[in-house]
Amino acid sequence: PYVLTETEYVNQEELTYPFEERGLQFGDGVYEVIRVYHGEYYLIEEHVERLYRSAAAIKLEVPYTKEDMYKRLDQLLQLNAFTGDGKVYLQITRGSAPRDHAFPKGVGANLYAYVSDVPRKLDLMEEGISTITEPDVRWDLCYIKSLNLLPNVMAKQTATEHNCFEAILHKDGKVTECSSSNVYLVKDGAIYTHPATKNILHGCVRIRIEAFANEAGVPFHEEAFHLEDITEADELFLTSSTAEVMPIVNVDGKTVANGTPGKITRLMQQAYEKDAGIPEDA
Ligand code: PLP
Repeated sequence: PYVLTETEYVNQEELTYPFEERGLQFGDGVYEVIRVYHGEYYLIEEHVERLYRSAAAIKLEVPYTKEDMYKRLDQLLQLNAFTGDGKVYLQITRGSAPRDHAFPKGVGANLYAYVSDVPRKLDLMEEGISTITEPDVRWDLCYIKSLNLLPNVMAKQTATEHNCFEAILHKDGKVTECSSSNVYLVKDGAIYTHPATKNILHGCVRIRIEAFANEAGVPFHEEAFHLEDITEADELFLTSSTAEVMPIVNVDGKTVANGTPGKITRLMQQAYEKDAGIPEDA
């Protein structure tokens, strides 16, 4: 398989880094995960825009222009003759240099991007998934898609140990998002989700959910809900580029409403499939 780097394409096996690399030593970098359906990108503009925003927020220069970025990402799929459902993982770090917290001078960024298979989670999307709740112990700049993912990793691992798909994160009971997805509550026909402040990652799918809701005449409130609201919720769901629109039917061992995916969640799933160009019988 071919991997895109800051300068060229290389064979995956040929890509190596010095051990003094700032992504490895400091998590000093940013990343994106872009969904691919039958060999075509979904929401690529949203992802590329967010990548440049994240990079700018940590004073990191992306090695090429946005225009080149689009071209090279397309080439990556072509070179690999990738025609399936998958994802492109792309990361940019501040480069390789002797270890020192301050930025190194005269060192260029390291970049790599590769494509891999990600089958759609059809069974889970049909039945819904279970979650746990965990305190959100992350920093104040979660809108930056930074490589520092230790709190997210710890929360997801706790969820996994409880046979759960995700951890719903909260600050003093106020729900922010999940460890690697955005989360929404449905009550009396309206959708509620944490506002796109610095405290959450502004999900590319989240942008589309707002549009789908508007198109369907479903009120979309950027208003955080609280852990205690979950007991009274009609529906709960999460979104991400790899999980799509995923119904949540259980939180901390208690069922959400009657324990089956709700109507508005189904509406959002259908809107997503249509938007992503996925055939109805898929
Ligand atoms: N929130 C977090 C913390 C994430 O890591 C992700 C991405 O995986 C999301 C939300 C969802 O973002 P997107 O819809 O752009 O995949």
